[in-house]
Amino acid sequence: MTVSFAAKVKEELSNIKPRAGHCITAAAEAHKYFTIIKKEYKISEDILERRCCKRTFLREAFLIAGAMSDPEKSYHFELICQTKLKAEFLRDLINQFDGMDAKIVVRGKSYVTYLKGSDQIVDMLGIMEASLSYMELENVRIMKSVRNSVNRRTNCETANIGKTVTASKRQMDDIELIRDRIGFRELPDGLAEMAEVRLKYPEASLTELGQYLSTPLGKSGVNHRLRRLSEIAGQLRMKEGKVNAQ
Ligand SMILES: [Zn+2]
Repeated sequence: MTVSFAAKVKEELSNIKPRAGHCITAAAEAHKYFTIIKKEYKISEDILERRCCKRTFLREAFLIAGAMSDPEKSYHFELICQTKLKAEFLRDLINQFDGMDAKIVVRGKSYVTYLKGSDQIVDMLGIMEASLSYMELENVRIMKSVRNSVNRRTNCETANIGKTVTASKRQMDDIELIRDRIGFRELPDGLAEMAEVRLKYPEASLTELGQYLSTPLGKSGVNHRLRRLSEIAGQLRMKEGKVNAQ
């Protein structure tokens, strides 16, 4: 069984021991705050004055009340509180850090302070000083974005190949109609060779077709000739339609 990402983060955080006296106090306060039965426990403001103490407090909060999803699947980070007051306190504490936008949702009897989005969660790992987890999450993000862009490109190429095949099929139908009804000798200059080349290379792109001509032609020149062939085929179909209708 693989260890969840949340478990790895907690493992890393539990190895960070506060050293300074003020941080040790902040950690002890966090323990009281989240494990004490008394619901209205108030933390005096001077305990969380320093930034290092805020980080320590949030670290302890996550160890006691935190959960997060596996970043391979989704990005969700939360701290589960027993009272609205505690959830609000944590939200405000997190939001004191630059760019953070923690929110609260009620779930059953609990108040959940949560973060959404990989940016916020990466930053939160940074705030808690979980540097290994921070790097692991960044790697997951990079791998995901590489995978996505490869998928996008593959889908795009498949769509383009599909278009080429459909267009080629239509052109082949038109050219075969011309060949069967009037033959290529009747065609204006350049169109006969274009028709033959198209029939010979059904899978070639317009650019490639241009290269197969005795006097190579660019994509737009090829497109122009194929369109003229389609027009001729269209006229033949119209005439046949009229004949059939009589
Ligand atoms: Zn401190």
